[in-house]
Amino acid sequence: MPSKRGFKKRVKTQIYSLERRGHMLSPRRLFGTNGIRGVVNKELTSEMAIKIGSSVGTFFKHGTLIVGHDARTSSPMLTKAVIAGLNAVGCNILFVGMVPTPTLQYAIKNHKLDGGVIITASHNPPEYNGIKVIWNDGIELSRDQEIAIENIFFDEKMRYVKWNEIGTIRDLFGVVDDYVEAIKKHVNVERITKKHYRVVIDAANSVGNLATPYLLRDLGCKVITINGNIDGTFPGRLPEPRVENLTELASTVKAIDADLGVAYDGDADRSVFVDENGEIYWGDKTFALVEKYFLKDNPDEKIVTPVSSSTLVKDIADAYNGEIVWTKVGSVTVSQTMKKMKTKLGGEENGGIFYGPHQSVRDGAMATALVLNIMAKTNKKLSQLIGELPKYFIEKGKVECPENLKEKALEKLAEQMKGFNISTIDGVKVWFKDRSAILIRPSGTEPIYRLYAEAKNEQKAKQLVNKYSLKLEKLIDSVKG
Ligand code: MG
Repeated sequence: MPSKRGFKKRVKTQIYSLERRGHMLSPRRLFGTNGIRGVVNKELTSEMAIKIGSSVGTFFKHGTLIVGHDARTSSPMLTKAVIAGLNAVGCNILFVGMVPTPTLQYAIKNHKLDGGVIITASHNPPEYNGIKVIWNDGIELSRDQEIAIENIFFDEKMRYVKWNEIGTIRDLFGVVDDYVEAIKKHVNVERITKKHYRVVIDAANSVGNLATPYLLRDLGCKVITINGNIDGTFPGRLPEPRVENLTELASTVKAIDADLGVAYDGDADRSVFVDENGEIYWGDKTFALVEKYFLKDNPDEKIVTPVSSSTLVKDIADAYNGEIVWTKVGSVTVSQTMKKMKTKLGGEENGGIFYGPHQSVRDGAMATALVLNIMAKTNKKLSQLIGELPKYFIEKGKVECPENLKEKALEKLAEQMKGFNISTIDGVKVWFKDRSAILIRPSGTEPIYRLYAEAKNEQKAKQLVNKYSLKLEKLIDSVKG
């Protein structure tokens, strides 16, 4: 049995190792951009999970929380640890088992509960896991709320209760059915059903298989799943829905003559679509499509999206009387901005679509229903619908920069670009008059800047990356002194 002192020391070491990987920015930080993440049994252990559970429970002042988890091998273990910690400070638990993250988020709102916790590492590789904490509106906690939990954790301010006040654990059934029914209210079920679409789903052997196939069955679709068996080792593909992980989905759609393919990440909040020809579209394109048909029905609405999104999203807003609200990169920021500004639609380039009338969080099943709704309404194939959007060429690059110089060099760059249309909300984004753009962002995990350029032709996009890579290298040299 390790001494209390030994335990404290070990927790501290684990936290510092998380910091090195960029998941934590300071020794008193637990939460990264999307919950608490780490490699299981190295950076995120059961011991830590108990303590995190008690800190979260103390923050919620002993309320009733929903707890669920994804399909990872470590998820049941960490879930039990988090629940033990929550119970120890008097929180009552409604346990929903294995569910997509957006299903749990919807259940919190639907059952009017105090909040919830989901054990998931979303798109990270199988050896990772994580803990996302959700507020009573179904949205992940704000940074201020996370800080409150971090203070409880690091100052050991957990309020443990007496033996007769320990929280209860009850199962909560039916959350997937409630979630599916809620999504159906936002689309024309009859019109989609009449089309008898053939849809291939690739949910990466994870929780996306637990809801969308049944939603699509209710929408009259013939559903074919690949990687449909639940397996936390992710034997079919890695849980991040990147183009290189989706070749099997693309070829299956083509081979069986399906109308649509859709891939989800490990907790099914992000969705990436494949058209009937097997072409895979990155998130900005499907988001722009959803945005276009949303603005046609809801002109003058504000659309929330991070500065990493393509100018395509702005083009659509300009063409259909919408207004873009640019934010920092990160799904929680998009959700929190939507909440604060009372807006109805948000989206990210990585496949996150936030449909406020359902819930202001990214939701893979809701996004799939919206895409089918547009296809049915317009009587067009996905390739046609995407083909009608403005076209951009994307080019990426990176420049090495020591951590301690990142901020200084970026400040200098922003100064130099003052005469241009720029945003410094997250890195430096510059929009040029010919509708090309470049975003320069320091990586949160590596000593590099990442450059994302886009333009109306490939050559211009490449030129932008080259020009700004050289500019940055010179700036880094100049701030070295
Ligand atoms: Mg996710």
